[in-house]
Amino acid sequence: MKTLGIIGGMSYESSKLFYELINNRVNDILGGYHCCKSIMYTVDFDEIVRLQNEEKWDELNLIVADVTRKLEAGGADLIVLCTNTLHICADAIINATKVPFLHIAETVGEEAKSRFIKKAGLLGTKFTMEKDFYKDVLKEKYGIDVIIPGEIDRDTIHNVIFGELVHGQIRESSRKKFIEIINRLERNGAEGIILGCTDIPLLISEEHLEIPIFDSIRLHAEHSVRRILSDELNQ
Ligand code: GLU
Repeated sequence: MKTLGIIGGMSYESSKLFYELINNRVNDILGGYHCCKSIMYTVDFDEIVRLQNEEKWDELNLIVADVTRKLEAGGADLIVLCTNTLHICADAIINATKVPFLHIAETVGEEAKSRFIKKAGLLGTKFTMEKDFYKDVLKEKYGIDVIIPGEIDRDTIHNVIFGELVHGQIRESSRKKFIEIINRLERNGAEGIILGCTDIPLLISEEHLEIPIFDSIRLHAEHSVRRILSDELNQ
């Protein structure tokens, strides 16, 4: 088994879920007392949120590059960034290390493509929905067109993520709002919905919806495990 290097803490609620998912998955595959060899570096989310809101991407690039080098020095064989938003800084990670990096949007794109999705609705922070860094990966690598909710709905999603989910607060009223937003995206032609925020699956999952769901945190965890167990799985 190789060692997974995780840049975590965004939020720590979703990092807890990611940690659980990778360990459960390794144990499902290998059985016994096996779990996932990993190193998680947890950033201080308050600093990250402030810099994101101020759009100080150069400073964020320096932070993720520094953490990447620490994970490399600690023996990581594969680096993952356990959030969607900060993939804005993916190039800074890639340029800081020789260790391979697994982009979260690629794990979503592969799965959506394998299910013949041509048009998907994207839910995430305003940064993820409104900027191109995520949509471009899906379009250019997987031929998937992405549609996003209208402005009021984007505000609602963003505010629920930062006002509730990252603090571990799950409210039925917010779940209802998310389902309504997803229904609107479906009426606008979405064939599937990308949960492009690692905190959203704390609120919404397949059981709440009919439309296919592409859950970024679960797909990222699944693909991470496949990569670190590549030797075992190819035996
Ligand atoms: N975890 C969230 C994401 O996947 C949002 C929180 C953040 O990192 O800004 O984008």
